Amino acid sequence: MAHSKALLVLENFIGGRFVPCSSYIDSYNPSTGDVYCRVPDSGKEEVEAAVNAAKEAFPIWSSKSPLERSQILNKLADLIEHDLEAFAQAESKDQGKTITFARTVDIPRAVHNFRFFASSILHHVTECTEMPAMGCVHYTSRAPVGVAGLISPWNLPLYLLTWKIAPAIACGNTVVAKPSEMTSVTAWMMCKLLEKAGLPPGVVNVVFGVGAKAGEALVCHPDVPLISFTGSTLTAQRITEKSAPHCKRLSLELGGKNPAIVFDDADLSQCIPTTVRSSFANQGEICLCTSRIFVQRGIYSEFLKRFVAEAKKWKTGNPSDPTINVGALISKEHLEKVRNYVKKAQAEGARILCGEGVDPLALPPGNQKGYFMLPTVIAEVKDESCCMQEEIFGPVTCVVAFDTEEEVIKRANGVKYGLAATVWSGNVGRVHRVAHGLQSGLVWTNCWLVRDLNLPFGGMKASGIGREGAKDSYEFFTEVKTITIKH
Ligand code: ADP
Repeated sequence: MAHSKALLVLENFIGGRFVPCSSYIDSYNPSTGDVYCRVPDSGKEEVEAAVNAAKEAFPIWSSKSPLERSQILNKLADLIEHDLEAFAQAESKDQGKTITFARTVDIPRAVHNFRFFASSILHHVTECTEMPAMGCVHYTSRAPVGVAGLISPWNLPLYLLTWKIAPAIACGNTVVAKPSEMTSVTAWMMCKLLEKAGLPPGVVNVVFGVGAKAGEALVCHPDVPLISFTGSTLTAQRITEKSAPHCKRLSLELGGKNPAIVFDDADLSQCIPTTVRSSFANQGEICLCTSRIFVQRGIYSEFLKRFVAEAKKWKTGNPSDPTINVGALISKEHLEKVRNYVKKAQAEGARILCGEGVDPLALPPGNQKGYFMLPTVIAEVKDESCCMQEEIFGPVTCVVAFDTEEEVIKRANGVKYGLAATVWSGNVGRVHRVAHGLQSGLVWTNCWLVRDLNLPFGGMKASGIGREGAKDSYEFFTEVKTITIKH
């Protein structure tokens, strides 16, 4: 393909050095549709080199004290924060997300991930029990596992990659990371800061490329005993299969089909703007986004009217414009897939209340070929419809009515996923009952996306296996040993 402008060319980061690759793939700017970057098309050979570098660095890194590792993580956080604006611009351009979201959510959270695990690693204690009658004490000791394989997706590129790298290296592991081939730039920028932060060569290695080639080579590598993956359920199934012969330890953070349940005593002045945000933030490309809204029948029409009016206030357009709320979707194929869901809903007799196919989408001249779509609200859709069952991962949300508490718990649980749910009600007893009844790894009541990183994050059912968080990540990224001493 002919490229008019000079392209950004990324290189793998192996053993503390940038290494060119023998072949490359194109990466698109989703807001213009232009190729602007070339990403290494790594395979077995590159993964082998990265794993070797990580193995070589392991004895040095794992023998450092938690305090020494903590200081390096904090330094890295400072360096990313110093370049926050450059990282935010790059993330917005590479992913299509708004510059505002990148500035206020993605990059600050990446910084916080390093600071959080730099601190939490200093506060873990292991267990000890005594058996006086036997003259024994037992205690547990925890040690890093080895080379961790980290595979991350394209929706929150640096945010989710650092959510894995930070705990992995804080615990003393070395890593080989494989970011999404569609959003590799900020990971590459971070590699430029590692040496300055004081990280020894080989502790963090980043291999760029596609999932089926680079990702699978990492999953199948016999010297990578642990894989932390965030992405689709389908890919997780493949990773599980491919890692089974090696009995690898897996942490799988997958998709969601997250319900919001709005009872008739909900404070709609809080609920409506938050539920619009939970449906459309980051173009709906967050695994925690709401995509099924159950509203109690008595307030259903009022809710719909106010919800649609609020959704229409969200402006779609050039992501680098700070007044824009909805940027571009990740790719042309993904945009097509999301649009098709709306078409299917329409064919099934659902009503499209705003957005796709209903309202005009006006884009600036430079963004005409970008992958944009308006926030879309669908009503009168059946629970069995694919729009109510499958993860759409775009700016599309369905609103349906319900009558009773018992009924709504059953319907909210009636999907294969179980990641996050929100419950809106002023009745404390009801909020507890519903939260307990939901099959969901996270339940937010009267809020959304308020996270305490100390606590477990992860999903049930097809939304994942394992949890991550201060204690959970520590347990995942370390191997425990029980030692008994007789005196
Ligand atoms: P999506 O379907 O939303 O693009 P994926 O699950 O395909 O999400 O991608 C998440 C991450 O998993 C990306 O880094 C991708 O390259 C990687 N990946 C995809 N397929 C595989 C695979 N077979 N083995 C390992 N990693 C993979």
